[in-house]
Amino acid sequence: MSQDNVKITLPDGSSREYPAGVTPRKVAEDVSAGLARQAIAAVVNGEPYDLSRGIATDASVRILTSRDEETLEIFRHSSAHLLAAAVTEVFPEAKYGVGPPIEGGFFYDFAVPRPFTPEDLEKIEEKMKELASKNIPFEREEVEKREAVSRFRELDQPFKQELVDEKGGDVVSCYRLGKFYDFCEGPHVPASGVIKAIKVLASSAAHWKGDEANAPMQRIYATTFYDQKSLAEHLTRLEEAKKRDHRKLGRELDLFLIRPEAPGQVFWLPNGMRVVNGLVEYMREKLDRRGYQEIKTPLILNTDVWRRSGHLDHYRENMYFIESDEAEFGMKPMNCPGAAMVYESALRSYRELPLRLSEFGHCHRYERSGVLSGLTRVRSFVQDDAHIYCTEAQIEAEVSDLIHLAQEVYADFGFLGFRIELSTRPKSSIGTDEQWTHAEAALEAALKATSSRYKVKGGEGAFYGPKIDFQVEDAIGRTHQCATIQLDFFQAERFDLYYAAEDGSRKRPVVLHRAILGSLERFMAVLIEHTGGAFPLWLAPLQAIVLPITEKHHEYAEGVAAALRGRGFRVTIDTRSEKVGFKIREAQLGKVPFMLVVGDKEEESKTVAVRNRKKGDLGPSSVEDLASALERAIRERSLVE
Ligand SMILES: [Zn+2]
Ligand SMILES: [Zn+2]
Repeated sequence: MSQDNVKITLPDGSSREYPAGVTPRKVAEDVSAGLARQAIAAVVNGEPYDLSRGIATDASVRILTSRDEETLEIFRHSSAHLLAAAVTEVFPEAKYGVGPPIEGGFFYDFAVPRPFTPEDLEKIEEKMKELASKNIPFEREEVEKREAVSRFRELDQPFKQELVDEKGGDVVSCYRLGKFYDFCEGPHVPASGVIKAIKVLASSAAHWKGDEANAPMQRIYATTFYDQKSLAEHLTRLEEAKKRDHRKLGRELDLFLIRPEAPGQVFWLPNGMRVVNGLVEYMREKLDRRGYQEIKTPLILNTDVWRRSGHLDHYRENMYFIESDEAEFGMKPMNCPGAAMVYESALRSYRELPLRLSEFGHCHRYERSGVLSGLTRVRSFVQDDAHIYCTEAQIEAEVSDLIHLAQEVYADFGFLGFRIELSTRPKSSIGTDEQWTHAEAALEAALKATSSRYKVKGGEGAFYGPKIDFQVEDAIGRTHQCATIQLDFFQAERFDLYYAAEDGSRKRPVVLHRAILGSLERFMAVLIEHTGGAFPLWLAPLQAIVLPITEKHHEYAEGVAAALRGRGFRVTIDTRSEKVGFKIREAQLGKVPFMLVVGDKEEESKTVAVRNRKKGDLGPSSVEDLASALERAIRERSLVE
C-alpha cells in the first residue's frame, strides 16, 4: 500500500510530512546545511539506508555522519566496492566474490589467473584513489531476480550469479559504481569521493565461500579512513603490532613452541613457563585473599557426565573422546561439571555460601586447523576458572567483588582501560521471568555500585543466564576479550545441586562461572603484545644479567650473581668473551630489565654499574641497595623500573 504523504520523525521527536519517496538526503537538508554536508547514510525505521533511497512509509529517520560508530561499517563496505571496481578495471578478467568489512578494514575475494604481486597491489591502490577522486555516485537499483541473474551471466561473473540465484524473493537490489556492478543489499556512502584515505595492505590465498573444495581465489586486504591522519595513525599501529606479534616475540624470547606434531597446543619453554607460573602465583594470591578454595578436577570424564551437562547435545563436535575400559570418555572442554561434582560431594548449608571454587583448569576444544593461530586460537588451554555457588541475594555482592578484582588485575598489568558489556536475556532461554529480572537487575546494580561504564547488549546473553564481558585495551590501543562473568540458572538443575536453607528447606544455588585472565594462553598472547615482550620486573623470566667486562671480572661477577640469587632474584651471567657493548645490546634485545656491568672500578668499590632496559644508564649502586630497590619494586608489582 503506497501512501501519498509520509510522516518522518527525527531523533529529537520532531516530525514533518513529506511526499512519499522522500530521501534521507532531503530530510538532512531540511534539518541543516551542515548536517546535509556531513551526512553519509541514514537509519530508517532501524534499517540502514542510502541517503538517496526513497522512503515509502511513515518512518523514524536518523542521519549518520562519520561521528556515528555504525557509519564505519557502511564506509568500509562501500570501500570494498571501490576496491572491486579498481581490480576489475586493472584486471578485466577478474571474477569477484564477496567483500565484507572486517576489524580495521575490509577484503574482497577474486578469482584471477595468477596471484596478485606487490606491483599489482600498488596499481590497484592507485586505481582506487583515481576512482575516489572522480566522486562516482553509488546507484541503487531494484532488479527482478531473473534479470539480475542474466546480467551477471552477461558480465561473466559466475560467483555473483550464484549468490543472486541463492537469494530468496523475486526482486534483488544491485548497485552501480561507475562501470562496476554488484549484487548487494547496501547501503553505501553517497559517492566514492567520501573515501578520502586508502591503503591496499596485502593479498592471500582464499577459496570461494571459504571451502577448500571450492574454486581458489585471491583475497585482497585493504583499509580506508575518513581522513589521511587517521590512516597514518592506523598504519603506525599496524607496524607496531607487527613488531609486537606474540608469535614472533615468542620465538625471539624463547617463550614457547608450537609444532606440527601437536596442532593448536603449546610447548612452554623455560622462559615462557616462568611467566605462566608467575601469572598463576599472582592470581592465587589474589584469590586466597578473597576466600576462594582451589580444586583440580580430572581432564577426562565419562560421557554420561557430558550427556547430563548438555555438552553432548550442544558441543559434541568441539570435544575429544577416548575409549577405555569399554566405556567412552570425553576430555573436558569446560571445567563446570567437575566443579559441580565437588559441590555435590557434600551436604551444603547456606552458611557455606558463597562457596568459591577456583581451578586452573586444563581444557581441550577442537578447533578447525584453519582457524588455529599462535596462542590466541588453540585446542588446549588453561583457564583461570572459578565457580561461585551463592544465593540470589548474594549475586550483587559477588559480582561487585569480581568487577573490583578484574579492575585490580588489569591495573596491575598497566592496561590502558577496559570496556564492559552486559549481555541480557536472549529470545530462547530457560529460567523464569522473575529469575531473569532479578539477575539482570543484580548485575546492573553491581556495575553501578562499582561505577563501571558499560554497554548493554540486549538479547546476547547465554540461554542459561546473563553475562558481563570485559574488553581490555592494550598499550597500542587494541582491545582484547578477557574476563567474563556468567550467571547460570541451569547447572544447579542439571546436576541436582542444592543447599539447606536457613528455614531447613532445600534450595538451588545460583552458579557464577567466571574467569579473570581468560585462558592463560590467550592472556600470554595479549601480555606479550601489550608489553612488547618486556614483561614487568615481577614477571620477567630473567630479572637481571651480570655483564663482566673481561674474563678477570668473572669471579666478582659470580659473587654478585650469587648474592642476588640468594635474595630470590632470577639472575644470570654473560661470560662469553664478547665486548660489553655487544652483551648490553643482546640483553636489551632479550628485554632483561636490569644489566649489571662489572669491571675494575666496580670490583674495587664493591658496586655494580646499573643499566635499565628502558631508562639506560642508572649509575653505580651497591649490591645491597640494588637488591632492596628490586625487592620493593617486585613487592609492589611496580610497572616503573
Ligand atoms: Zn554493497
Ligand atoms: Zn563454568
